[in-house]
Amino acid sequence: MAIIGGGVGGLTAGIALRGAGYDPVIYERAAEFGEVGAGISLSPNAVKGLESLGFTDFLARNANEPMDQFLFHWESGEELLRYDRRDTRATYGAAYYQMHRADLLAGLVDAFGTERCVMGAALTGLEQGGATARIAFADGNEVEADIVIAADGLRSAVREMLFDPGQPRFSGHVAWRALVPGDRLSPRASEASSINHIGPGQNLVTYPVRGRSLVNVVALTRAEGWTEESWNARAAPAELAALFGGWADYVGEVIAAIPGDALYRWGLFVREPLVSWVKGRIALLGDAAHPMLPYMGQGASSTIEDAVVLGRCFAAAADPLEALRLYETARIERACFLQAESNVGGDRLQALDPYALRDNPPKNEDALGIFSYDPARVELA
Ligand SMILES: Cc1cc2nc3c(=O)[nH]c(=O)nc-3n(C[C@H](O)[C@H](O)[C@H](O)COP(=O)(O)OP(=O)(O)OC[C@H]3O[C@@H](n4cnc5c(N)ncnc54)[C@H](O)[C@@H]3O)c2cc1C
Repeated sequence: MAIIGGGVGGLTAGIALRGAGYDPVIYERAAEFGEVGAGISLSPNAVKGLESLGFTDFLARNANEPMDQFLFHWESGEELLRYDRRDTRATYGAAYYQMHRADLLAGLVDAFGTERCVMGAALTGLEQGGATARIAFADGNEVEADIVIAADGLRSAVREMLFDPGQPRFSGHVAWRALVPGDRLSPRASEASSINHIGPGQNLVTYPVRGRSLVNVVALTRAEGWTEESWNARAAPAELAALFGGWADYVGEVIAAIPGDALYRWGLFVREPLVSWVKGRIALLGDAAHPMLPYMGQGASSTIEDAVVLGRCFAAAADPLEALRLYETARIERACFLQAESNVGGDRLQALDPYALRDNPPKNEDALGIFSYDPARVELA
């Protein structure tokens, strides 16, 4: 069994499949495991999945638990909405966590181990016939596998070869990310909460990670086109400051504290939902199957859901091909729903009039039932 891609999806799937009695090999294009220097939020639906794989103590040790999630007016800094997260465990059966992405990846690598990981292995070809699939890599190596799980991300080569020849489309949304040492900011930035300033067409969020030592900064803005070759690039804090001129003092303070070499900018790309993720012995998982804009923080969380359900399907099904069919049936509707909601989330959050959002709040993750889902228990068929 082969897993293509050693990101959050591939590694979590590897751990889940091993728990189901399989012994997958992960093939990762990069020479080393790595994640961008940024934060990640893991909502209770994902946390339930990770805890079912043995990560309860790891998360408690390495992640922060926000008590409140605030939305503030972009200009006046006035509080518009507050989501109280104190009862999250009691309500949803698990915490809402925020952490450093590199720490999450390191924990997953640690749990899966590196013996069954082949690094520097970029898939370039995939064919199936008879009882196996044949995988070709850029360095000329080839392997055979009875099952292939493609967790190779938004620009998935497997998706392009077998499921969708189209290219990802620039969404018009741009993400800027940085980690700022906590002591460069006022204590408010390190409190156990996330602070989101929202305005027409853009917003800026902060929350602490690694205790209070770092503050994660994410700004989401709009752009007409994305012409740079590289889809992510280092950016100058002055560019961000120009976009957020006139915003509340807190926003100015945060941008001014970003170290000159710590800011990165991503063009955010989307793909159409797929009607199928499984072809014979090959299945898509995570961003390869259902990339989504980050407005609901569900990209990695839904990827973790996929991986946990996949493991359960392999444990339950009589044979691997049936397990893949079961996985697709169990997951596709939920993931397409999250993808659709996330992709319109920016228009809701970055409305022309933030007061309208306060007076008539859109359904958020709680109201949409996103947090109640439990990938470790959801019915499989
Ligand atoms: C600005 C921003 C903020 C976000 N914030 C959150 C958040 O707070 N919470 C959340 O849940 N989600 C968030 N997400 C989404 C989340 O990052 C993704 O959904 C998640 O990383 C997807 O995991 P994945 O394993 O499917 O793909 P990836 O993380 O992209 O991993 C794919 C892996 O496959 C490897 N690979 C690619 N091609 C090949 C190949 N041909 N052969 C071998 N290996 C290959 C890559 O090197 C990589 O390691 C955010 C996304 C963005 C852009």
